[in-house]
Amino acid sequence: MNNDTRTIAITGASRGIGAAIARELVLRGFNVACLNRNGLATPVDKEFPEAAQARLTGIPCDVCATDSINEAIRAAANIGNGLFGVVNNAGITKGGPSESFSRDDFEDVWTTNVLGVFSVCQAAYPYLVDGGRGLIINIGSFWDRIGGKGYTAYCASKAAVGAVSRCLAVEWAKKGIRVLDVAPGYISTDMTSDALQHEPLRNHLKKRIPRGDVGGPEDIAKLVAALFSEDIEFLTGSTLYIDGAQGIAP
Ligand code: NDP
Repeated sequence: MNNDTRTIAITGASRGIGAAIARELVLRGFNVACLNRNGLATPVDKEFPEAAQARLTGIPCDVCATDSINEAIRAAANIGNGLFGVVNNAGITKGGPSESFSRDDFEDVWTTNVLGVFSVCQAAYPYLVDGGRGLIINIGSFWDRIGGKGYTAYCASKAAVGAVSRCLAVEWAKKGIRVLDVAPGYISTDMTSDALQHEPLRNHLKKRIPRGDVGGPEDIAKLVAALFSEDIEFLTGSTLYIDGAQGIAP
């Protein structure tokens, strides 16, 4: 199948990692439905090729609202020759001491990072089954296996993203649907900008990350795009860590 017949829906493609993935995929010829709260396509700079930009379609979507998700996925499936893939990228983080962390904040993180992922997968399922196959990539985090001080809700939510990915990979394998969890380490985006401006942390990470510094959104984009470009049929249910080896370093 040519890339230009296939559509991939990405949640939270307005900025950061999601935007980088959207840009990389259209450069490789895929159609991309940008499921963004603002309803707009992923922004590009002036030098970006027009033909690739034309393959970006903005669709309003709030991953905390089931109706919004269902409508957005239906619209995405009407682009090109239908839905081939999904990237569940939208996510939030909230931190604070666990002894006083509010239930509301925990629910916010869980609703976006876990229920959002699961609901988008559910909405996409009939379209992927109709198409005969599909690839779902959920963006987890290497925090899924770290005891992050003050980040219980976020760490738990990302561990759950891995679990959701494994369960759906097993349950939907016979339908031709593969499900992967791509788990980044520290990536320079709005989500981490405040923390990374803190010089002691940045210096600590330069020493702590074996490759020498944090990653960029384009690192994650290249991995996700490669997974869509190559049909690696035996690869499903895995968590793929991309963290400059920080998570395995002693
Ligand atoms: P950003 O904060 O830069 O971007 C978050 C994106 O998610 C934005 O597009 C935002 O949209 C969108 N979003 C948030 N809530 C919703 C919602 N309810 N409905 C739709 N879209 C929503 O984060 P990153 O790019 O850094 O993170 C992207 C993903 O990668 C997240 O899942 C994050 O947990 C994960 N990750 C990030 C790491 C990092 O170091 N940066 C490391 C490991 C994982 P809007 O513009 O409308 O706010």
